[in-house]
Amino acid sequence: MADPGIVEAIRKAGVVGAGGAGFPTHVKAQAKAEVVISNGAECEPLLHKDKELQKHYAALIVEGLELMMAATGASQGVLAVKAKHKDVVSALEKAIKGRRGLRAQTLGNYYPAGDEFSLVYEVTGKLIPPGGIPIQIGAVVDNVETLLNVALAKKQPVTDTFLTVTGAVNAPVTVKLPIGTSVNEALTQAGNAKIKDFGVIDSAMMGRVMDPSEPVAKTTGGLIVLPKGHPLLRKKSASAERIARIGRSACDQCSFCTEFCPRYLLGYSIQPHKVMRSLGFAGADRKVLNEWALLCCECSLCSLYACPEELDPKSVCVAAKAALREKKVDWKSSTLNKSPAPAAHPMLPFRKVPLPRLVRKLGLHDYLADAPLQETRAAIRKVRIPLNQHLGVPALPVVSAGQKVRRGDLVGQIPEGKLAAAVHASIDGVVKSVDSHVMIEA
Ligand code: SF4
Ligand code: SF4
Repeated sequence: MADPGIVEAIRKAGVVGAGGAGFPTHVKAQAKAEVVISNGAECEPLLHKDKELQKHYAALIVEGLELMMAATGASQGVLAVKAKHKDVVSALEKAIKGRRGLRAQTLGNYYPAGDEFSLVYEVTGKLIPPGGIPIQIGAVVDNVETLLNVALAKKQPVTDTFLTVTGAVNAPVTVKLPIGTSVNEALTQAGNAKIKDFGVIDSAMMGRVMDPSEPVAKTTGGLIVLPKGHPLLRKKSASAERIARIGRSACDQCSFCTEFCPRYLLGYSIQPHKVMRSLGFAGADRKVLNEWALLCCECSLCSLYACPEELDPKSVCVAAKAALREKKVDWKSSTLNKSPAPAAHPMLPFRKVPLPRLVRKLGLHDYLADAPLQETRAAIRKVRIPLNQHLGVPALPVVSAGQKVRRGDLVGQIPEGKLAAAVHASIDGVVKSVDSHVMIEA
């Protein structure tokens, strides 16, 4: 029986997709679905946040899953989890024992197991339409931290985020931090960096380089410290101009980037080697080739694993999509949107990239380490809370400098009729400034 108040509770609590996308969960909760999938696949190298949450909060995650099933009318709930985490699988199986419509589905140890398109296909055997979203085939996918926040939504708004702090740190850990805590402060929770010159990325494959003063948000799942000069840091810091210049001269059109692309293997019209070819063209020819980037999910497998020349087709695809957006070309208006319905490539099961091999290729094997959950919330005295940590438009600030706030007070509301999520104070204190962020000091 659906709980009529749950959608409003989720909206008021500011729950968003914690897996990275930041899609406001109250919108997903209003859809009509057949299946809700708990995404605990966690395939980003070195991160342990989702595994730790499933181990420690299995019952709450199952409660969140059941609330989403009730809200959407779904008769099935599936907990997708890596088979290699046997303790997590047992915790989830114990939590669903005797409950109707729920099952755990184990996945292999490959990348990108947590990608929505890939996960929905694994669980349902159906392909999301090109350029579409899971609900078009009756599925809703929520990250495990999102489901935890759904379960807590009636009691408390989202003020904290869980993340793994790892890499070249003294004590890798998974922590619960007030939203808006700085990266620097987050590193202290892991005993700080153990090297002097370092850089920080928020994840190896889909992440970016973060400034130490940047705040963590609802969607931050990890921080990885690497020595300055590490190839991953260098690659993520390269300019678009340099990427295009080297790509133009060094790409030999071997098409490995396409052959390993997970979306291509699912049968979608995406071919990054053709987008690389566009670098040598201009005008209409370039536009036609760029359209092969429209369905790219930016997983980085082509750039960080497949390309033998160490080129960066992912970044070239990102630039191609931006150029097409400027010309108002999207999937709907694309010339490729006439292809037959996608059908999975026969090589799909054989080209899944094993995580250990990916870790070695990324040069991260020296940093493989457990990052156990530290359940106590870190005491932080200063936060800078982003008003835009979700898909859609930024929240509208409802506080001003000098105002006293308590943890959980609303500081940013959803603009009337817009896609957005509410934002709350994550510590008790005084508002110091309000711009694109709300800064609070205890
Ligand atoms: S794998 Fe590298 S070299 Fe081969 S086509 Fe793709 S970008 Fe070019
Ligand atoms: S980043 Fe590369 S491998 Fe990933 S979807 Fe885009 S083109 Fe395919």
